[in-house]
Formats: sequence, C-alpha cells, structure tokens
Amino acid sequence: MGLIVQKFGGSSVADADKIRNVARIITETYRRGHNVVAVLSAQGDTTDDLIAKAKEINPKASRREMDMLLSTGEQISCSLCAMAIEAMGYPVVSLTGWQAGFKTDSSYSSARIKTVQTERLITELDKRCIVIVTGFQGINKYDDITTLGRGGSDTSAVALAAILHADLCQIYTDVDGIYTADPRSVTGARKLEEITYDEMLELASLGAQVLHNRSVEMAKRYNVNLEVLSSFTGKPGTKVKEVVKVVEKSHVSGVAKDKNVARVAVVGVADEPGIAFKIFSLLAKHSINVDLILQSIGRNNTKDISFTISRKDMEATKALLEERKDYIHFERVDVSDDIAKVSIVGAGMINNPGVAAQMFEALYSANINIHMISTSEIKVSVLVDDDDANRAVQAIHDKFYSEFGNRG
Ligand code: ADP
Ligand code: ASP
Ligand code: MG
Repeated sequence: MGLIVQKFGGSSVADADKIRNVARIITETYRRGHNVVAVLSAQGDTTDDLIAKAKEINPKASRREMDMLLSTGEQISCSLCAMAIEAMGYPVVSLTGWQAGFKTDSSYSSARIKTVQTERLITELDKRCIVIVTGFQGINKYDDITTLGRGGSDTSAVALAAILHADLCQIYTDVDGIYTADPRSVTGARKLEEITYDEMLELASLGAQVLHNRSVEMAKRYNVNLEVLSSFTGKPGTKVKEVVKVVEKSHVSGVAKDKNVARVAVVGVADEPGIAFKIFSLLAKHSINVDLILQSIGRNNTKDISFTISRKDMEATKALLEERKDYIHFERVDVSDDIAKVSIVGAGMINNPGVAAQMFEALYSANINIHMISTSEIKVSVLVDDDDANRAVQAIHDKFYSEFGNRG
C-alpha cells in the first residue's frame, strides 16, 4: 500500500459528470489499497468568472479581497467531489487550504508555500479516509487566505506529495501528457514518454501552462515522482524526472509560446556608465521582473535599452521610468504588448551550437521578423510580433520534428 496524490484541473471537474468521473478515478486508486489525497482546481472557468465579477464591483479591488474571493472556487469543486465519493459509499473528507495546513507567505495572489502542517491530513489518512484538498490556496501569518497564482493547484499537489513522502504525484488534465508543443495549437505535436525536471521547468517558465512552473521546481527539489496524464483517456501519461533514457534524436524537447510579455524601449539614454544600473535597480525596487534585455550600440552619445516584462507591469513600468526621467536621462519610453516570446528547450542543446541557427532558419523561411534573442545552455528564446507567434511555433516545431523524428 502506498500514498498517491492526484490533482485534477478545472476542465477535469467542469460539471457533474466530470466530477463523478474524478470520483471514480480516486476511488479506484483507493480500492487498489492506496491512500489517496486528491487536490482539485475550481470547476471550468470559475476562477475567470470570479475575476470578472470582482471587476464589476471594483476593478481595483485589493489583492487580499481577491484571494478571499478566488479561493471559493476550489471549495465548491472539492465539496461536490466529496459528495460524489460519499454517494459511492467510501469514507471521504474535503479540506480547505487552511484546514489541510498550508502556511504561505503574505504575497496575496502569488503566495509561496512555507510549510504544510500535516497533522489533520495524517489523522484522516490513518483512518483510511480519502482526503480531498482545495488547490491553489493557504493562509498567511495573519490567518488571511492567500492564493498561489494562476495554475497554482499543481504546486499544492506537489507540495503535499513532497511533505507526505507520497509514492507518486499524478497531475490529471485535459491532454494525455506533455507534448513537444501545445497539442491544441500545433499540428504534429508529439507526446513525450518522459522529460527531465530541468527541461520541464524551462518549458513551464516559458509559457507551457500544462504544469505550474513552481510545481516543477518543487518536484525537482524534493525528487517527487511526477506524472502528467488525462482524466478522460486512461492512457499512460508523461513522467517528469531527474534523468531520462537517452533515446532522443532531436536536441529539442519542446517549443513554447508566452503571450504574457510586453516590451519597453528606453530611447535616447546617455551613452555613459551607470544607466543600466539606474533603470534596473529602480524596477527591482518595485518588484518588476525583467526578462530579455537588449542594448544598442551608442551613436551621437546616446543609445537605446529595450527589455521585456510581464504584461501586467507595462503601465507601471512606463510611469515609474517617466517619473525618474531627470535622474536616468532619456528621450522617451515606448511600450508595446503586441509581441510574444517563442522558445525552444532541450538539454541536448548545450553541445550543439547549430540548434539556434536552425531555429532562426525556420523563422526566416516563414518570413518572421525577430525583435530580440536570448540564449542559455538549455533554451533559445526570440521575441516576435504577437500575430506571428502561432506561425512561428509551428514553423520551428516542423523544422525540428520533421528532420529528427520523435524523441519520446
Ligand atoms: P488544468 O486545468 O488541468 O490545470 P491547464 O489548462 O492548466 O489544465 O493545462 C493544460 C493545457 O496546457 C492543455 O490543454 C494544453 O493546451 C496546454 N499546453 C501548453 N503546452 C503544452 C505542452 N507542451 N504539452 C501539453 N499541454 C500543453
Ligand atoms: N483555479 C486556479 C486557476 O484557475 C488554480 C488552478 O486551476 O490551478 O488559476
Ligand atoms: Mg493548470
């Protein structure tokens, strides 16, 4: 007998039939002799609907009240699922984040889990009770409800698997595994049998929302046995692990797209030491994360510095820079959010400098202009126009996967 943590995403619990389907998966696992902790997301589009409701009342609602509101979505799906399991005659209890012992820091709407106090969970499991836990939430030191950021239920599940030393953490979703690109928008995307934590962490951070990036970070740190699979097909999914069998013919394990990017260009800054420090320390002080950075060569004693940030920070960044115009010295700030970041990820890239060139060739053949480039040992990212993003992903995917065949 082992302990299995199973997480079910919003589309897996969207209506009564789907909740019954989830109850069936949970109880089948239980009947095989395992203890089961299930973590559920809110039903379907509930979280988006709650955000829309809040906007109707107060578009500038505090993050504390937003968390209070958004946490209710998970409470509904969990109680309904527990009722379905009760009706099937199994012992079950549903718990909210705080009842399950999730303690987080105080960053409302993007809280980090500090610890999980497992006494209640262990008491229930010792009674051979199935435990259903609300994903995405916890409480902070003021006993306020916090949420972990969009997609955060994956992280709740992995945290429980880590702290309870579960034998397996299964992330059930609406696709049957991790693919070489989003299977909903890329023709020919291929399912991977397995992928390393590092590659998945990059893919998740670069926009592949199939796993919340912090869940992968945590799975790697605590060596959680992680699997992504479908709630609907019963097929084996994709394993995420430290080391994978080396069978790949391609150096690229996946292509990801991130539309949550905005570009800021600080035009006509003085060509002298200290400018980058002034700009980026100002943004750091206001917790604005900067991603790609590009500095032009100086001309007539001025240069331009461009960088990308998350879309939600665009207006605040422009305002902050303009407020400090006299201190930084620049001509103007241009911002745009009609761009997207497209990336390739693969551990096999390190020793193969040709990989980036092939990506650029694919974009050139598709007549797509690149605005910025950034590379690391395991990824290459480019910034392109939003309108070109889907074509860019498809062209890059075709390039790597028609020439190298399947890696999975
Ligand atoms: P859930 O509600 O179950 O958490 P999400 O919508 O958060 O599900 O994540 C699943 C979705 O992730 C899929 O429907 C798919 O469109 C998308 N996705 C993006 N990139 C990938 C990828 N590389 N492999 C699989 N799915 C991906
Ligand atoms: N319900 C939350 C969201 O939609 C958390 C999750 O689904 O993981 O972002
Ligand atoms: Mg998700």
